[in-house]
Amino acid sequence: MEIHHWKRDSCRLCSSHKLEKVLDLKPVPIGEKYSSSPFTEETQRFPIDLYNCQNCSCIQVLDNIDQDFLWSEYTYFSGQTDSIINHQDDFAKYVVENFKFSKKPKTLDIGSNDGTLLKAFEKRGFDIFGVDPANTVASVARQQGVETLVALFSDKIIEDIPLNFRDLDLITAFNVFAHSDDMYGMIHGVSKLLKPDGIFCFEVQYLVPILDKNLLGTIFHEHMIHYSVTSANNFMKSHGFKIIDLQFNNIQKGSIIFYVVKDSNPLPAKAIIQETLDFESDNGYLDGTKFKEFTEYINSTRDQISLLKDKINREGSTICAYGAARSGPTLAVQFGLENIISYLIDDHPSKCSKFAPFESLEVKSSKSIAEINPDYIVVLAWIHTKNIIKNNQDYLDQGGTMVSLWPKYREITSNNFNEWLDEKN
Ligand SMILES: [Zn+2]
Repeated sequence: MEIHHWKRDSCRLCSSHKLEKVLDLKPVPIGEKYSSSPFTEETQRFPIDLYNCQNCSCIQVLDNIDQDFLWSEYTYFSGQTDSIINHQDDFAKYVVENFKFSKKPKTLDIGSNDGTLLKAFEKRGFDIFGVDPANTVASVARQQGVETLVALFSDKIIEDIPLNFRDLDLITAFNVFAHSDDMYGMIHGVSKLLKPDGIFCFEVQYLVPILDKNLLGTIFHEHMIHYSVTSANNFMKSHGFKIIDLQFNNIQKGSIIFYVVKDSNPLPAKAIIQETLDFESDNGYLDGTKFKEFTEYINSTRDQISLLKDKINREGSTICAYGAARSGPTLAVQFGLENIISYLIDDHPSKCSKFAPFESLEVKSSKSIAEINPDYIVVLAWIHTKNIIKNNQDYLDQGGTMVSLWPKYREITSNNFNEWLDEKN
C-alpha cells in the first residue's frame, strides 16, 4: 500500500517560508506499524529532517504522513503506565487547587486516549468529554464510560461535539499539541470552545532537554513540532492567547506543560515565562546553534556502531535489538544498525510475535534471550536503557554484551557492569 506523503513549504505555526534545515537525518519508516506476517517488500521511508522557522522559531518536521494511516491503529494506552497515571493525576490536582472553576465545570481532552486524564478530572467533579483520532484507544475509553468522539481535533469537528460541551471551563491536550499538521484548526477549535475565563493546558516535549540530553528518540513522524517556549508563545500571541504559567517535568526525559488563557483574561503571566524566553534566546536554542552538538552525538554514536559492525562481521557473532518502540527505526537508521540485527525483543502484547516495519524483523519475547543467547543486544528502547540492562544481568553473566545508545554509546559486559551502573546516566 502506497502511503500518502507530502512536504510543507511553510511553517506549521506562522505560515512563513523562511525555513532553514537544522538537522539532517536519514529517512525512516513509520515506527508503529507492526504486521502479523512478514512484510513482502521494503516498507516506505520518509524524510524526518528538522527545520527552524526564522520568523517564529518553531522547530518542526515538514514532511507529513497521511493522518489516517498514522493514527488508525495507535497502540499506546496512557492507563497502562503507572507513572503517566500519577503524572496526570498530579496535574489535575494542581489545576483544581490553583484555578477557580464554576460549580459544575466542564472539560474536554484533546487526544484523550483511554480517558486516563479525563478520569482524573471526573473524580474532582468535572463533566468530561474526549476527542481522539484512534479507534483503538477511544473504544477502551468508551468501555470505561468516557464519552469520546473519534476525530482529529480541529475547528472543523465542533458540530460533532455535544452542545453541552461547547462552552468549556478547561481544555487539555497532553502529548497531542505537536501531533497535527493543522495547528490553525486546532487552536481555532480551542478558541471557539473555551469560555472567556476558561483555561487551556497542553503538555509537549520541550526542545531544551531534547537538545541538552540528545533525545534523538523523540524525533519521529508523529512529533511534528518540537516546541520551545518562544515558538509556543509566538503562536499563542498570534491567536489571542497568553501563556500564564509553565511546568517542567521529566516525562520522556523532558516535557513542559503550558497554562494558557485568552488575552482578555486578567490572570497575570508568571515571571518564569519571560525568564525562559530570555534563557532560550541567550543560549542558542532558537537559531540552530545547539543542533550542531546534537549532530555530533549522532555522528560519534554512528562511528561506534560502525566499529561494532566490523567486529560482528569479523567474529561472525549475532546481535539483536531490545525494544520495539516507536523510536526504534529512528535510532536504528540514524546510527547505521541496519542489516545486522537478527530480531527484536519486546514483551508488549501488541508487538510480540509480530513483524516490525523496520527490515521486517520478528519481535520475540524477552524469554528468547536465554534460548537464543545472542552475542550482543543493543537497546533501542532508549528511555528504558538502564532498567533493561539491569534486568538482564543473567545474560551478561553468561558472557553476553549489551550496547547502550543513550545517553551515550557503551558496550556493557559483566566485567564493567558495576562501573557502568555507577556512572551518572
Ligand atoms: Zn513560523
